[in-house]
Amino acid sequence: MVREQLAYPRRESERTGADARPLNWARNATLGAAGSIVTPGTEAELRSLLAGGTGKVRMIGSRMSPGRMLDTAGDDHVLLDVGRLSGLVSMSDETATFAGATTLAEVYETLSAQGRMLPSSPGVIAAQTLAGAISTGTHGQGLQQSSIADAAVRFRLVLADGSVAEFDRGHPWFAAVQLGLGTLGVITEVTLRTTDSPVYTCRKDAVAADTLGDDLLRWNRDNDLVKAWWFPQENQVQVWTAREASEADVARYRAGGRALVEHATVNDAMNATVDQTLRQLRDDTNVAADDKPSRTVTRFRDFTDVTGDIYQVFCRGIATPQINVEIGVPLDLAAGVIKRIKDWHDVTRPRMHYPVILRCTGPSEAWLSPSHGQDTCYFGFVVYYSEDGTLSEEGESFLRAVEKVLAAEGGRPHWGKYFDESLYDWPALYPRWAEFRRVRDALDPHHRFANAFTGALFA
Ligand SMILES: Cc1cc2nc3c(=O)[nH]c(=O)nc-3n(C[C@H](O)[C@H](O)[C@H](O)COP(=O)(O)OP(=O)(O)OC[C@H]3O[C@@H](n4cnc5c(N)ncnc54)[C@H](O)[C@@H]3O)c2cc1C
Repeated sequence: MVREQLAYPRRESERTGADARPLNWARNATLGAAGSIVTPGTEAELRSLLAGGTGKVRMIGSRMSPGRMLDTAGDDHVLLDVGRLSGLVSMSDETATFAGATTLAEVYETLSAQGRMLPSSPGVIAAQTLAGAISTGTHGQGLQQSSIADAAVRFRLVLADGSVAEFDRGHPWFAAVQLGLGTLGVITEVTLRTTDSPVYTCRKDAVAADTLGDDLLRWNRDNDLVKAWWFPQENQVQVWTAREASEADVARYRAGGRALVEHATVNDAMNATVDQTLRQLRDDTNVAADDKPSRTVTRFRDFTDVTGDIYQVFCRGIATPQINVEIGVPLDLAAGVIKRIKDWHDVTRPRMHYPVILRCTGPSEAWLSPSHGQDTCYFGFVVYYSEDGTLSEEGESFLRAVEKVLAAEGGRPHWGKYFDESLYDWPALYPRWAEFRRVRDALDPHHRFANAFTGALFA
């Protein structure tokens, strides 16, 4: 019972005055004591802060991860917010260096203004910090690319003793630093590879889910970028497949001042499915039609193809607190997993608030990435909070049951989302687990950057 509450915590109201203990973004976890956040203004200040103390330190970015990734418990513990160290540091023809706490939105805007992009497609929002996103394996979609960390070519870290270390691609520990769960050091700079930013046309279709396992592989092989949302109850899928735009589409996009072009033909084939999902969402949560959770679902109605750059097409999410479970399974197992979810769904008929999100990526080099070493299909499941910050019992039991199905298939959970640790045998799932631990022991010998969660993980 206690474990279940920890896995999917309730939301709290904003705290003020004497009880102003810091919360995470979703306001479902307390991260530390009141006054525990420190915000150094320069790297030199950060270095002397670390060199001058021995207490535990946990880094926070935009605090969008579950509380266990961020919290720290003791009175002398520090929550380190390096948000004042942000922005573009330098740019070359093929790379860009940003301070670690730069938001992805700023990274994307800066690159787009130069006609550049990362060789890694964006997730659904860009409010995360670069260092926070990298530290949890944040990713988008498309088999020809992988996580944001895979676009990195150099990291600059301030270590637990205040010293500075740099890691480039030739360094034997680079792949550990690429996804460090905030346990190795404070990322103060990241140099990222950049590429020309093509204009994409994203075709949007509504199809039956009868052959989804095969279709998903085909869509991903035949297109640059693919994202799909599966409504198992209605046996329907909305799929977005993006390729470089035709000359005519590019001309239209340019003529419109490079604003996202919405093509004329409106497809209403999913409207009944959307209405059914909205009914379930509202029955469970009481959220209003114009509240953010409802709007995330309404967006599947009346859709059109679009033309724009990679960020305009894919990074368009509405950020709203939710419990989001996302598990990566090897791509060649995806069709079998889809079948298993279908069978399970037919028996249990859970009331879902949102479709199953399907995103595939190529292999990641990062040792602790869920897509390390293999093409991966990520299955995402969302349950929204009620108005009063609670979760419906049905929503919780849906998440628990579906995560068990995926964990049994060798799934690896997204580190920055919700999962039940007891379902996973980490060293068996991650072939470089022991090496990562050795790197951690070398870079942070006294485990200053550990908290309860990472301490237990690497115990
Ligand atoms: C609404 C929403 C949408 C999302 N969409 C996607 C998506 O499309 N794709 C996807 O893959 N994920 C997605 N996520 C997950 C999200 O990208 C991760 O939770 C990410 O870690 C959040 O970044 P942050 O800046 O908030 O980091 P935080 O949550 O603040 O921190 C995450 C981790 O990074 C560490 N850290 C932070 N800063 C530093 C630093 N400077 N140096 C070293 N370590 C540091 C922290 O200690 C912690 O371990 C989404 C989450 C939400 C809430």
